[in-house]
Amino acid sequence: MGAGSSSYTQPNDTKITLEDIPKILHKRDLSEPHRTLRVVCISDTHTRHADLNVPDGDILIHSGESINSDIVKHSSRPEDLEDFNRWLGTLPHRYRLVTGGNHDKIIDNAGLDIDAIRQRYLSNCTHYLKDTSVEIEGIKIYGSPWHGLRPFWYRANAFGRKEVSHSSSPLVGGVIFHTSHLAHQITGLGRKNIETRWNDIPEDTDIVITHVPPEGVRDWSHAKQKPEGSPHLTATDLLRVKPKAHIFGHCHGSYGISRYDSTKNVDYAQSLRERHGMEAKEEEEYEIYFFNAAQAISREPLVFEYIY
Ligand SMILES: [Zn+2]
Repeated sequence: MGAGSSSYTQPNDTKITLEDIPKILHKRDLSEPHRTLRVVCISDTHTRHADLNVPDGDILIHSGESINSDIVKHSSRPEDLEDFNRWLGTLPHRYRLVTGGNHDKIIDNAGLDIDAIRQRYLSNCTHYLKDTSVEIEGIKIYGSPWHGLRPFWYRANAFGRKEVSHSSSPLVGGVIFHTSHLAHQITGLGRKNIETRWNDIPEDTDIVITHVPPEGVRDWSHAKQKPEGSPHLTATDLLRVKPKAHIFGHCHGSYGISRYDSTKNVDYAQSLRERHGMEAKEEEEYEIYFFNAAQAISREPLVFEYIY
C-alpha cells in the first residue's frame, strides 16, 4: 500500500509510515496490566465499500460519506445507504461507529435524532455519532459530521456550517483569520458556526472522529488543489482537547497517518495560540496521531492499536 506521494502536512509535522501499525499508548508502563483494542478506520467510501479489504479488529470507524450526492437531482440514493448498511452488518467488529459527511444528505435531511437515524438507516452500526460521545470499554470517543459550508450551488453541502477562510501557512492564516472572522461576525448573525461544534468536544476525549481534517494536517484536496481543513479544529486538537487519536476523511488527496509531537512542534503550537488568542500554559508533552482514512488513494483501511 502506498502513502500517497502528494500528501500535505504542516512542515514540522511528523509523518509515520503506513507499514507499521501505530501503537497508541494511553498507558506508558506496559509492565503493568493493560488492554489493547484494535481500531480500523475507513472514510469516504462513496458506495465503493465492497471494494475494501477490511481487517478484523475490535472497533470499526467510518468518518462519513458512505454514499454520494447525485449531481443532477442534488440528492442521495436511499438504496446506496441501504446497501452500505447491509455491508456493515457483515463486518466482524464488535463496535461499528459511523458519523456523517457533506455527501450524506439523506441523513442530514431526515431531521431525526441520532437514535432514529440509526434505527432507520444505519441499524448495523452500533453507534451513529453526531456531536456525541460514547465510552467503549473505557475509551472515550467523540464524533461529529460538520464541514465548512461551500457556496449554495455546491451539490454536497450536508452538515455544512460557516467556517473562516482556509490557509496553508500560519502567518498568512493569521491575517486571513482575523479579517474573515470579522466578516463572518457581520454576515453570520444568528447562525451557529463550525467553531461552536468543535467547542463542544469534551476535554477528556481519547479519540476524536470528524469528517473534516484539522487545517494543516492531511487536508490537501486533489480536486480543489488547496488545503481544506478546519482551522478551529486544529486549535481544538492541539491546544485544548489533545486526543490520543483523531480520525477523519474528506480530503481525498491526503490519505495516511501523521503524528504530532508537542516537543518537536513548539513553534507551530505557539503560532496557533497567537492566532486564537490563547495563553501559553506550562509545557506539557503529548502526541496526537492523525488518520486521514479517505478511501480514494488507497482501498486499504488504516489500523492502529490502542493500549490502555
Ligand atoms: Zn467530505
